[in-house]
Amino acid sequence: MTVGILGGGQLGRMLALAGYPLGLDFLCLDPSADAPAGQVAPLLRGAFTDQRLLARLARECEVITFDWENVSVRGLAAIAQRHRVRICPPVAALATGQDRVAEKRLFERLHIPTTRWQAVESSRQLARALAGVGLPGVLKTRRMGYDGKGQAVIRTAQDADRAWAQLGRVPLLYEEYVPFDCEVSIIGARSPRGETAVYPLCGNVHGAGMLRLTRAPYGPPAWQRRATLYLKRVLTHFRYSGILTIEFFVRRGRLIANEMAPRVHNSGHWTIEGAITSQFENHLRAILGLPLGATDARGFSAMVNLIGELPPRARLLALAGVHLHDYGKSARPGRKMGHCTLVEPTAAARDRRARALLNDLRVEVRIP
Ligand code: AMP
Repeated sequence: MTVGILGGGQLGRMLALAGYPLGLDFLCLDPSADAPAGQVAPLLRGAFTDQRLLARLARECEVITFDWENVSVRGLAAIAQRHRVRICPPVAALATGQDRVAEKRLFERLHIPTTRWQAVESSRQLARALAGVGLPGVLKTRRMGYDGKGQAVIRTAQDADRAWAQLGRVPLLYEEYVPFDCEVSIIGARSPRGETAVYPLCGNVHGAGMLRLTRAPYGPPAWQRRATLYLKRVLTHFRYSGILTIEFFVRRGRLIANEMAPRVHNSGHWTIEGAITSQFENHLRAILGLPLGATDARGFSAMVNLIGELPPRARLLALAGVHLHDYGKSARPGRKMGHCTLVEPTAAARDRRARALLNDLRVEVRIP
């Protein structure tokens, strides 16, 4: 049984690595010859819009999934129809995840609290949004934003001019700035039969817009219950199959949805060693209609992203219980090169070791 993956990044690579023990094969499509998934699975090299390659993927694969969000929705819908191949997660969820305005509308429709926001397509609309939503706020591109790219915090009128000059060429969204106490994400799977499996809540720390540290399980049971409720609303809404992630700000105990990702997520990498079944395996189980695996934590996990360059392998592996995942990429500033995970018997031990690891890696972030 072959699974097609649009995108051959680290997520595709980890999907393939999780699928081989289940007897699955993979075929990836990616424009880059040195895509990380191409080192562990066959890779078709070409554009995501290449009809000939998409047709081949559709012919050879049981199901097609994606490892990044910005593949063409129109192209996917066309191959699904023309070649009668299943696309999972559903294209409608992908379309929503690609557009911050559609995402906000969905949260509102499903009564999931989100930030106050307004769509912005002209400098006049920006002035109106600044007045309506207030300062401070964040101006974000509606599409193609990830890892903090395509966004600017606005605290003053001068900031607004600068942000407009920087981002104003594409449709935007302006939202209130949330002085959050912490950020969390919830990750869960749904199978076509409607079975769901939700992971323990993840506590996420970002630096310069990029995820640096995830700890799980995290937060009180009330947060877990709320986040699970919201996640299940979205899963049901789309009659979803696969893994879905929602990220929240937490402010005074209230969860405020920031964004959703219709795919396996960086904040779920800890599940490889830290949960009974990893998010990657559960994504594959879900899209293939197989029974979902248990999502319980094996202990208290911390996952640290390795960004820009990898520290010497031996230095990390000398730390007891540290698992290294090297994505096989060439070093570049700001690039996610790999991650490492540790699992401890208590939250206190996990937090202590996570701080020491970040210190050792010279990562300066404020850990709540
Ligand atoms: P995003 O691409 O929307 O996930 O934003 C990346 C990161 O920027 C978030 O995880 C937050 O740390 C920060 N951020 C984004 N939007 C806001 C906001 N409205 N208020 C405060 N921080 C934000």
